[in-house]
Amino acid sequence: MGELRGGVRSFDAATGGAVGDAAGCGAADDGAGGEVIGPAGAAGGEGGSAGGEGDAGNGDDRRPVAPGSGWPGDPASATTPVAVTPGDVGRLAASADDTVELDARMSVCRACPRLVGWREEVAQLRRAAFARERYWGRPVPSFGPADARVLVVGLAPAAHGGNRTGRIFTGDRSGDWLFASLHRVGLARLPTSLSAGDGQRLISTRIVAAVRCAPPANKPTTLERDACRGWLIRDLELLRPTLRAIVVLGGFAWTALWPALGRAGHPVPSPRPAFGHGRRVVLADVPTVGPASSPAGPARRAASTEAVTERDIAGRGVTEHRAGLVVFGCYHPSQQNTFTGRVTAEMIDAVLGAAAEVSGAVSDK
Ligand code: SF4
Repeated sequence: MGELRGGVRSFDAATGGAVGDAAGCGAADDGAGGEVIGPAGAAGGEGGSAGGEGDAGNGDDRRPVAPGSGWPGDPASATTPVAVTPGDVGRLAASADDTVELDARMSVCRACPRLVGWREEVAQLRRAAFARERYWGRPVPSFGPADARVLVVGLAPAAHGGNRTGRIFTGDRSGDWLFASLHRVGLARLPTSLSAGDGQRLISTRIVAAVRCAPPANKPTTLERDACRGWLIRDLELLRPTLRAIVVLGGFAWTALWPALGRAGHPVPSPRPAFGHGRRVVLADVPTVGPASSPAGPARRAASTEAVTERDIAGRGVTEHRAGLVVFGCYHPSQQNTFTGRVTAEMIDAVLGAAAEVSGAVSDK
């Protein structure tokens, strides 16, 4: 059992569950401040010995993957601090110096009891088709370089996709559509994303989820969305020097993005624009007071609704605003949307292609 400083929360190492008064996602920031954050090595089923290569590979071990135990792309180690409340998420995200540290911290988060329970239960029970595979069973970190020009924002990992493979949009049908399109427009090295060790590499692009843990029925609550916002805010802050385009997949992620953009110092229009496929919102680049990654906190940009314009994508006629940030709406490539033809490969290509073009990302290949 890992007793946490502050003495109000601890983990049961045998079950992986939190004991004591661990707050739910709906709990307001505990406000207690201070350090109540323990290392990943103490985080229940994820903790204990770091294990070896074999511990992380395929097999019948139904525990979540132990941080630093050899899973390809695992950003965390046994000493990575663990957030156990929404307040912890805010503090740990804000103090992450770079995307490596940020990815590590989000990948061991336990701030939402319902989602922690679900992701670990799925990893234990598994789907029959993957019965012989070890599941990741942890929050799925962002994927892509720290100097990305394009950010793709999805809803949440799939229970048997990202929650199994440990990489966002990897190992599920939605990911098949997304990575095929990213590859066609020049933003991904490979047309498929099958596992965390498959050699896939994004080109000047980073993919994140609004909620980093797989939710039951793919439906996180608004409280869980808000609890996870700190990770998204910090991603946006750290990317700001290079970020030029954001592609938002679906209405849930669209709603989640705007408050995070505002907290990260971008000018956000009011009222917030409605989601739509092909919707494009241009945020002007307003001078900053200080660097985005300043230890003193996020730099403030003067919010200017006058500086914001909207337009639909007209063909691929995106030619300007290299200095600003363009937010694109895109239907989520969910099975429901792709089966019904609500979104097609051509429609996704058009949006991602426009983002690649306006951001200059394709010239980074
Ligand atoms: S959804 Fe986000 S805040 Fe909640 S446990 Fe997962 S990573 Fe942490």
